[in-house]
Amino acid sequence: MSYDRVRAADEEVADALVGERERQNDTLAMIASENHVSEAVLEAQGSELTNKYAEGYPGERYYGGCEYADEVEELAIERAKELWGAEHVNVQPHSGSSANMGVYFAVLEPGDKILSLDLTHGGHLSHGHSVNFAGKLYEVQHYEVDEETGRIDYNDLASIAEEFQPDMIVSGFSAYPRQVDWEAIQEAADRVGAYHMADIAHITGLVAAGEHPSPVGVADFVTGSTHKTIRAGRGGIIMCADEYADAIDTAVFPGAQGGPLMHNVAGKAVGFGEALEPEFKEYAAQVVKNAEVLGETLKENGFSLVSGGTDTHLVLADLRESHPDTTGGEAEEALEEVGIVLNGNTVPGETRSAFNPSGIRAGTPALTTRGFEEEEMRKVGDLITRVVDNIGDEEVYAEVAAEVQELCDDHPLYE
Ligand SMILES: *Cc1c(COP(=O)(O)O)cnc(C)c1O
Repeated sequence: MSYDRVRAADEEVADALVGERERQNDTLAMIASENHVSEAVLEAQGSELTNKYAEGYPGERYYGGCEYADEVEELAIERAKELWGAEHVNVQPHSGSSANMGVYFAVLEPGDKILSLDLTHGGHLSHGHSVNFAGKLYEVQHYEVDEETGRIDYNDLASIAEEFQPDMIVSGFSAYPRQVDWEAIQEAADRVGAYHMADIAHITGLVAAGEHPSPVGVADFVTGSTHKTIRAGRGGIIMCADEYADAIDTAVFPGAQGGPLMHNVAGKAVGFGEALEPEFKEYAAQVVKNAEVLGETLKENGFSLVSGGTDTHLVLADLRESHPDTTGGEAEEALEEVGIVLNGNTVPGETRSAFNPSGIRAGTPALTTRGFEEEEMRKVGDLITRVVDNIGDEEVYAEVAAEVQELCDDHPLYE
């Protein structure tokens, strides 16, 4: 896309759009929740469907002229069912957070109780943090990961559930490098008669490709975002058994949202179609391999990793032992200066704060989309090390920045 038409209408916005494209081309996107969609998904998202009101669902809309909107939404639903094996799918949530809202609205009343992972241990705002709508509407208690092992303590989770008697247990995380035992959490939910929502926002693509066990058919509800490992453009999705289909659909519209973002639903349809191709399985397997190599490299270089490693798409490094004088925020800033974009992150047993955390989180989905394999990931791990070992050394920064640019040039993204 040239943005010529935007430029003719609006220089300032065109400059920003071109700037963003160049930024993505010339930096290494290692924010674990980010990815690069295909140009096919970009084009679908930029389609005339943005003009269309399609309140309702395929075949039962509140407006006329919905035949193509119906077609696109049905394709997105059918492909999602094939990818994840769910009985019922709703592709209208505007984002992962809205998907979670849809599930809460479907089966909870204000004041009901939610048990979820603490944000500083890898949870998500929409799982009931006090600043989020879920924290304001529901009574929330948190479970944590074991600070020694960095892993969910499923026994502890079950005993907190016994005591708290939640109406819903939420699983699925934002900064958890290990596979999740969905069955163990389901058992805890069954024992107290709670619903179980598994939020696979980060790992939708890994689950679709069989690189992570699936909660579909285990948990009552599975939610996700569609722009992370699944590469289908910005949005959300809800999956459930047929028995909850009406409750979910009504909760999303008219409960939580108005008209669906049909251009984004088109992006989802195209992205899901891409994910059904055999190449996507290879991609997802490479994402996991790349994270493993990145983790090993960082460990060899002296970093300590939460849980000691990873079996997903991300690593979480705890800087407190290896770099006691460097915060995650400082590391993030220094790395951004050389073109490596990731985020400072809290770690289990955080001794600083959410604004000034002690860890860094790094993911491989976007770099893998660019074609990075093990060799490049080792190099990236070494570059990260050189920067974090030499905070404030502009000479080192300049050397690393040149190597980052070389890696970017070797793996071009958008023309
Ligand atoms: C990213 C994420 C979400 C969704 O976030 P949106 O920005 O609303 O799409 C929800 N839950 C978890 C665990 C996440 O990591």
